[in-house]
This record gives sequence, structure tokens and C-alpha cells, in this order.
Amino acid sequence: MESNPDASGISVRGRVLEALFLDRDGTLIVHEPYLHDPDRVVLLPGVREALTRVHRAGVKMFLFTNQSGVGRGMYTLADVAAVNRRMLDLLHLGHDLFTATCIAPEAPGETSPYRKPSPRFIREMLADHRIDAAAAWMVGDSPVDWEAGLAAGINVAAVVPDPAAPKAPERRADLGVAAYPTLLDWLAQVCG
Ligand SMILES: [Mg+2]
Repeated sequence: MESNPDASGISVRGRVLEALFLDRDGTLIVHEPYLHDPDRVVLLPGVREALTRVHRAGVKMFLFTNQSGVGRGMYTLADVAAVNRRMLDLLHLGHDLFTATCIAPEAPGETSPYRKPSPRFIREMLADHRIDAAAAWMVGDSPVDWEAGLAAGINVAAVVPDPAAPKAPERRADLGVAAYPTLLDWLAQVCG
């Protein structure tokens, strides 16, 4: 477990980065539709390095994931938790890495206060932890991630783990969201 905070923090566009909201599938781990087998969890390139640096700098991290497979009856919340645990095992940064985790289990079309693109989880965490929206980022690979972040008034970045099949490039362009091959590229290019 890494536990030595870097007192200098991480600076983004002249501000100290306070919080990072992260999508899971396709952002931290390889996207596999309706993943529910912990043995199939694979970290994406650069993720461990990026999260290690962010963690050491004392930045609060939040996991924000839509899991409609639960609402569709394909797997359970316990399965989601098991996948999350496996991801944390692979990261070796402690099981308390995320200050809070939001799993939205509803299927599309079901009433859900938290399912992305709802910004509610982000807004609640900003308020609960007194985080400046201008010092918070949402990073994800899907339009719902970018829309949730933008609706909450925080900064947004896209990761494109599969350059051959980027998600919704037109939507990304419409929203004005910059894209990076990996989370580590975002950190290196935006945070210096
Ligand atoms: Mg995703």
C-alpha cells in the first residue's frame, strides 16, 4: 500500500487537483460487456501508474460506474463488488483507495437518481467533501461520463483505450471533451 502523501499535490491548469471521479469499465479496466467474473478483470495500461501518483498526492478519488447488468438480472451487486475488489487487489493501493463508490444498478429507462449521465453523485460528493468543482475532474470513456461531469460543473476528460473503435467521437467533439489514450496520458499531458 502506498501511503506517503506528496505534499506538493498535483497541479492542473494552475489549481491543485482535489478530486478525481473515475468510470470503471473502459477507463480503469478493460471493457467487457456485463463483466461479473473477478478472474476476468484486467487493468488498462497506465492505470496503476496514474492512480499511484494521484493517490500519493492525496487527491480524493471516487469510483462512479453504471451497472445495468444488475437491473437486467444478469448478475448481482455482490458480483459488482467482487469485480471492484479484484480491481483494487490488482492496483495494490489499498482497499480504501476510493473515498466513495457509486454503483448505479438500474437498467436504462428505469428511474434512477444516480445512473450516469445523472450528475447527482458528483454533486453530492462535492458538497459532502467541500470540493471546489473547478478543482475536480471526471474521466471516462463514454458520453454518459462526460455528460455527468459537465452537468455537475466539473472538468471532463475522455480516455480512448481502443483507438480503432473510439466511443462516440462526434459526441465528444460536440461536448468539447479532449481525449487521451490512457489515464496516464491525461495525467502527464494535463497535469504536467
Ligand atoms: Mg466506461
